[in-house]
Amino acid sequence: MVSIDQIRKFFRGYIGIGELLAKLTAFKIGGPADFYLEPLDAGDLAVLVNLLSDHELPFMMIGNGSNMLVSDFGYRGAAINIERGLSAIEFDGEFVKAGAGIKLAKLVDFCVENGLHGVETLAGIPGTLGGAILTNAGAYGETISDYLFEVEVIRRGELKKISKVAAGDSMRRDAAAFSYMKVITDRYGSLENDFVVGAAFRFPPKGSFGRGDKAELKRVRRELILRRNELQPVELPNAGRIFKNPEGKSVGKLIENCGLKGFRIGNAQFSTKHANFVVNLGGASAVDVLQLIKTAQEKVNEKSGVMLELDVKLMGFQLEELAIIEA
Ligand SMILES: Cc1cc2nc3c(=O)[nH]c(=O)nc-3n(C[C@H](O)[C@H](O)[C@H](O)COP(=O)(O)OP(=O)(O)OC[C@H]3O[C@@H](n4cnc5c(N)ncnc54)[C@H](O)[C@@H]3O)c2cc1C
Repeated sequence: MVSIDQIRKFFRGYIGIGELLAKLTAFKIGGPADFYLEPLDAGDLAVLVNLLSDHELPFMMIGNGSNMLVSDFGYRGAAINIERGLSAIEFDGEFVKAGAGIKLAKLVDFCVENGLHGVETLAGIPGTLGGAILTNAGAYGETISDYLFEVEVIRRGELKKISKVAAGDSMRRDAAAFSYMKVITDRYGSLENDFVVGAAFRFPPKGSFGRGDKAELKRVRRELILRRNELQPVELPNAGRIFKNPEGKSVGKLIENCGLKGFRIGNAQFSTKHANFVVNLGGASAVDVLQLIKTAQEKVNEKSGVMLELDVKLMGFQLEELAIIEA
């Protein structure tokens, strides 16, 4: 195993030992990571990824931790966070270029302030740009990938730029390019093996779609945030939707139909506001959440014949822990 001295020799950023991942996740659940590392920039991250790979130390990227459930035992390896080192943003008149560590809220605010229409419907989604690209975050039929032009990643230790389209305008709703993730996986293999360090967006010219007006963008942003606050349990720690919505179905309704809205195990509960959210009532364990997941999967399958698929990413779990949901 790599020692802290070996990491210090090559890595310039912050090194934490045994930091509780509960502090870094929206769920407020998760044990300690052996190492917690904050690179200073993309070069520092590339060095780190090479070092950890050479020493076969597992590593994971943690953005805002808003789409993950971390094991109560934490993560045996290094959790890497790039919010501090890779959060710059600029607009050069054609492209908005941002570091992957920037919070989505900041990206939205920046675009709204510059009168750029294209990401305002993502207002209120917690997360970083990197996490949003990885999960293809979206709302109201729009996703982070709609105006994405280029993604910069670290793949096998090397910085690499991946373009969504060979040339021309960003391909909003283009049939082939509609799912950015699909394009990436078809052309370049899984993005999940890559670390996203930055991205460039090209938004439509001002005035197209009758939008791009600053006051109008501000109104949309405000309205969507208020709507989220009303419909989602934002007052309690959670990790967003627990399950993916199967085509044409609402998981919230499927869970509700089984009488599980408000159902609680330990300190985890299917939200009384929206049943596809599990909330941490205070001190919930990852096992509490896994047991709720298992209960919903069984009951919904029995009643509706639908096998619910996890949306939240499980991090750091050992096989024995996962037996709860796999049995
Ligand atoms: C209240 C609430 C509401 C939500 N509403 C929505 C919604 O409307 N729509 C929606 O799509 N999502 C929603 N989510 C889920 C979540 O906000 C998004 O998935 C978000 O984009 C995750 O970003 P993150 O930085 O928090 O990612 P994390 O949770 O930190 O990570 C998610 C995954 O991405 C990986 N990752 C993170 N950063 C990088 C990187 N730079 N490079 C490579 N891999 C990386 C992680 O390893 C992990 O596998 C909601 C969550 C909450 C808590």
